[in-house]
Amino acid sequence: MSKAVCLCSGGLDSTVAATIARRSGMDVYLIHVSYGQQAELREIEAVRRIAGAIGASDLMLSTLDLFRGLSALTTPCARIPQGVEVSLDSYSTPPTWVYCRNTVLLSMAAAYAEYLGAESIYVGFNAEEAMSYPDNRPEFVERFNALLERAVASFSRPPKVVAPLVDMRKNEIVRLGTEIKAPLELTWSCYLDGEIHCGTCESCQHRRRGFVEAGVPDPTEYLH
Ligand SMILES: [Zn+2]
Repeated sequence: MSKAVCLCSGGLDSTVAATIARRSGMDVYLIHVSYGQQAELREIEAVRRIAGAIGASDLMLSTLDLFRGLSALTTPCARIPQGVEVSLDSYSTPPTWVYCRNTVLLSMAAAYAEYLGAESIYVGFNAEEAMSYPDNRPEFVERFNALLERAVASFSRPPKVVAPLVDMRKNEIVRLGTEIKAPLELTWSCYLDGEIHCGTCESCQHRRRGFVEAGVPDPTEYLH
């Protein structure tokens, strides 16, 4: 059976992507990276449960110090904007941006994939994030795949990044996730590390809107 490494934050998008890989019959190896994000413990709890729910073959929990303190997202107690209305049309770089994150995390996933002999690396890149972050766009995936052709050992087969949600918006991802029975109720999207989702950070706003626009009951408990 072929193997897929799935880069999983424990959020909606990467969980739906990992479920797609699993439903297509692949052996799924989840990798989660703790890079100092305020919600890292919540994410790890989520990703452990997701691994069980989708029948992952293994879960790699990796850590990275580089980003700690470099972003509001990765600085303990730094103020993460809450209640600031998120508009998909007028984006500017938010204080929660983590520098070149997808390039760094995908490189880690690629190393794990080469070790396993996995043929694919599934990611949850999507059209909404691509509006402000070029490292979610199809061109980025294409170029990263071209890089991988030259990045592995001569006798390894380069893994290929697969981004099944790359053209989809959050509501379409929620609808698809519901159809394929992805464990959406186990996912964690909030930037903060509260007992439940805050409901007001940028990520919670996207999550909420996704369920509302999809017309799917939202299983999430929000603080506000
Ligand atoms: Zn939140």
